[in-house]
Amino acid sequence: MTFKLPDLPYEINTLEPYISQKTLEFHYGKHHRTYVENLNKLIAGTKFENMSLEEIIKEAAGKAEYQGIFNNAAQAWNHAFFWKCMKKGGGKPQGAILSRIEKDFGSYEKFREEFKNAAVTQFGSGWAWLVEQDGKLAIMKTTNADTPIAHGLKALLTVDVWEHAYYLDYQNRRADFVEAFLNNLAHYQG
Ligand code: MN
Repeated sequence: MTFKLPDLPYEINTLEPYISQKTLEFHYGKHHRTYVENLNKLIAGTKFENMSLEEIIKEAAGKAEYQGIFNNAAQAWNHAFFWKCMKKGGGKPQGAILSRIEKDFGSYEKFREEFKNAAVTQFGSGWAWLVEQDGKLAIMKTTNADTPIAHGLKALLTVDVWEHAYYLDYQNRRADFVEAFLNNLAHYQG
């Protein structure tokens, strides 16, 4: 299968001023595109070439000989999911997902604190996640390309904390980027 860069679910300037068009031109238009293009090159003529992205991630996870395939497949999945996890006018969740958060974390504020802490304390490149594990919501952070998909978990929200996600807009202020994400962009899935 040849993977295509999925369309952004909004215009490239929709998330301004919290994430600029310039950031998305690089982050979506260059970084995400490169992961998809590299993956296509790496899987051509291999046992991976007819698998779905999720199947590739699960098959390549933890195997040194497939590290490059894993990294590019996982980053292709993570970025497509991250774009869906944002919208104009996003922020505090509502309805069923809010009720689940309140039940499993005690309160939205407690969840928010744990999620932000995971995002800010992820050392170096990676991701912070809200995941579902055995029917219960949990916070997770992953390093580099690692993804809940590789661990059999369902993701409900993520924020990319690689420097390329925020450096043009926030420089080194990762915490400000995560605050802006939680307050103004977050679009909970599932
Ligand atoms: Mn990224």
